[in-house]
Amino acid sequence: LSFEVRHSDLAARIGKIETMHGAFETPVFIPVIHPVKQIVDTKFLEKLGFKIVITNAYTTLKYYGTEACERGIHDIINYNGVVMTDSGGYQVLRYGSVEVNPQTMAAFQKDISSDIAVPLDKPTGYGLSYELAKEYVQQTLNNARETLDTINEAREEKIESQVDDNCVDTIAATKRAIPTKPIHLFGAGHPLTIPLIVALGCDMFDSASYVLYAKEDRYLHANGTSKLQDLSYFPCQCPTCLSYTVKELLDLDKEKRTAEVANHNLYMLQAEVSIVKQTIVDGRLWEYVMQKAHAHPKVMEALELLKNFEFLEYGTPLFKGKALFMFDPLDQYRPEAKRFRRMVSNFRSPKYKRKRLVLYPELDIHPFYSSTTLVNLTKKFPDAQICTYSPFLGIIPVEISDIFPAAHNLIPRKTLTNSQAKDYPTFIESLNRFLIENGFEEVMIVEDHFILEVIEKISTQKPNLKVLRLQE
Ligand SMILES: [Zn+2]
Repeated sequence: LSFEVRHSDLAARIGKIETMHGAFETPVFIPVIHPVKQIVDTKFLEKLGFKIVITNAYTTLKYYGTEACERGIHDIINYNGVVMTDSGGYQVLRYGSVEVNPQTMAAFQKDISSDIAVPLDKPTGYGLSYELAKEYVQQTLNNARETLDTINEAREEKIESQVDDNCVDTIAATKRAIPTKPIHLFGAGHPLTIPLIVALGCDMFDSASYVLYAKEDRYLHANGTSKLQDLSYFPCQCPTCLSYTVKELLDLDKEKRTAEVANHNLYMLQAEVSIVKQTIVDGRLWEYVMQKAHAHPKVMEALELLKNFEFLEYGTPLFKGKALFMFDPLDQYRPEAKRFRRMVSNFRSPKYKRKRLVLYPELDIHPFYSSTTLVNLTKKFPDAQICTYSPFLGIIPVEISDIFPAAHNLIPRKTLTNSQAKDYPTFIESLNRFLIENGFEEVMIVEDHFILEVIEKISTQKPNLKVLRLQE
């Protein structure tokens, strides 16, 4: 397997993985195929552009036995693209154990020409004691080692969980441990959470949700799931939604209805992945994840954890062709803002002897050094260090006010004027450091409640404050 990365934003990567049965692009949603009783035709999946599917090698072994080795997995599921095989870990989770050992499963996956094999793992599930969980993980690692010895090829790391706080932490730990390898997340297939898991660095994720939901008449949409009978309209233009009214779809017999809803669900998942890929190219993945967070409180909760994930910076380009949109205090933690504050923390006022600092609120005119306000301020305070400030980026010295993203951001005017100091701890910290490092004795500010509140909260010896009147 080779993995080539073309674009990145946050920890998300648009990449290409080559296998024996062709290549596919990441991030990728991988539909789960049942090797015996598949509801959606795999040829339909090929037509929809799914270049990779996943099926269960353990179920294949139980049902087909050695016949599977003669025919190969591609023939069994009637699919010409890339086939990944799971190994029975899910059955271990459900039934406690399976009747095969890791070597047998590894050899079988090799014999049926699986393109991406998964070692037989022992999932921890939820609620296990730390000691027992550790033992299970150790067993999975041993199994992985034996599988590698049997197949002798590089494989994905395996993590298993639903998307919640635990899951987000698990993905973060995995990213830190193996930053350059493709990461597969098992059992994730909802348009609401796909942007978040991709932002965290999951390159591949699989799910049977499209068909499991369809069996219960559950219809996926961009921001959630609805019961078919609760819908009055279809918020979708896929062939299924264009062919039926809600009532007509409900009137179909169970089997036909399940297949049609499953088809729609697949379109939704495929569309979501395409949207996410375009936002990666545009450098707008953070904004897009924030949109999803406003669609569901659980996504918002998970987002809180992103504040401290330094690894999100590595994939974020140093410069972007588009302005950053910032609305919410959480935006002060986006990688571009963190980077800018770090740069300012190393900034020393050119003439170190300057004792006077002028702090002026952000204007709509970017960069600040081309504004008439600056011309006036310079005339009035020729010996002062002049800076603007934004709650999201912190202090912006005029000398670097054209550096990304200081001159490349858009913030609603109301957010700029109504921000509260308590919501922007990064700002308080950066001003504090700026004052200490540059030894200012006098700070001139305009009458602005935000900066007054901030200065109230800084821990250094308070400098002399002078309040200017605006328009002065
Ligand atoms: Zn549809």
